[in-house]
Amino acid sequence: MLKAVYPGSFDPLTNGHVYIAKRAADIFGKCVIAVLDNSEKKSMFSKAERVDMIRSVFKNDKNISVAAYDGLLVDFMKKEKSRVIVRGLRALSDFEYEFQIAQLNRQLAPEVETFFIATEPRFSFLASHAVKDVFKWGGNISDMVPQEILERMVKLQNKD
Ligand code: ADP
Repeated sequence: MLKAVYPGSFDPLTNGHVYIAKRAADIFGKCVIAVLDNSEKKSMFSKAERVDMIRSVFKNDKNISVAAYDGLLVDFMKKEKSRVIVRGLRALSDFEYEFQIAQLNRQLAPEVETFFIATEPRFSFLASHAVKDVFKWGGNISDMVPQEILERMVKLQNKD
């Protein structure tokens, strides 16, 4: 059994992310969702909140765990003793960015391999930033994110 690491900012986790994590756990045996802060994106939820929210989504999936990390992904891979990075692909437009990161990680840690999982067509237009925009303007996002995530978003909105 292998352990895959699925890194991302997941701000917030969408049904597209859920699909990739479940697929990775199914194919490789185990999946660790690794939550990071993307320096180019301002986050809606803190990293600790995101870890907590994602844990609640996968509370019944024994082969999926959630961890936070800082720094280099390849160092996290060593810590987790995993050689499998999983990333999701929605469209060709994701490819260039993903390929660049995969090559960079290959250079830093040649023993680690990046695997890409193509999303289901129904998730191919789903992105965290779009979910945040639709929600902000009062649109219905209940088909885009798990129920636990929707509840946390509503709670945060009511706090503001
Ligand atoms: P990052 O900030 O690292 O891009 P994201 O949380 O936006 O993190 O995405 C994490 C990973 O999940 C990326 O590989 C991204 O391509 C993938 N992903 C995002 N949305 C979807 C989706 N709807 N279907 C499949 N994969 C997705």
